[in-house]
Amino acid sequence: MRDIINGFLRFQQDVFPSRKELFKSLATGQTPKALFISCSDSRMVPELVTQREPGDLFVIRNAGNIVPSFGPEPGGVSATVEYAVAQLKVSDIVICGHSDCGAMTAVATCACLDHMPAVRNWLHHTDAARMINESRHHETEKDRIDGMVRENVIAQLNNIRTHPSVAVALAQGRLGLHGWVYDIETGSILAHDTATNTFVPLALHPAASSDH
Ligand code: ZN
Repeated sequence: MRDIINGFLRFQQDVFPSRKELFKSLATGQTPKALFISCSDSRMVPELVTQREPGDLFVIRNAGNIVPSFGPEPGGVSATVEYAVAQLKVSDIVICGHSDCGAMTAVATCACLDHMPAVRNWLHHTDAARMINESRHHETEKDRIDGMVRENVIAQLNNIRTHPSVAVALAQGRLGLHGWVYDIETGSILAHDTATNTFVPLALHPAASSDH
């Protein structure tokens, strides 16, 4: 805890003064352009890997970068998605999985989660991805886990389309959906290409050359 407090003191003394104009401009409102949904994993830092400033990204993080399908009793993730799309009017949503994900490893290897009942329940939101991944042949355990990470991103992109605010924004053509997988060791990102249903390096993805 001391490291965290010392970090804040350094921020207050060294960082904040040099950025105070930015923070002043943000004091009374935000206009983030994107909703970024990623895992809570400490090794994937959305603002770092996208080089975004405070005010740029509206962020949801949870175990497994999961977006439950919209239902009769919407929870915190649903409310946050709705706020981002209906109120802040973000123009893009990125759902970003990552390599070596503990949640996806547990799902892909059918790990016993009896001692973590909340995690076990939460990961049922990946059932479609799990069954697709299980239906495929994998040469190695790592391939199985990597496949689960990718299928989960696709499944959560499908889930988020069931949210009324997202469905409306998509119908109006004012929202883009993006599925990414970040590799911790290499710092690279693969992006889902809907045309081919494959993952390609982000720099080669059609979105990288669009001005959207
Ligand atoms: Zn993770």
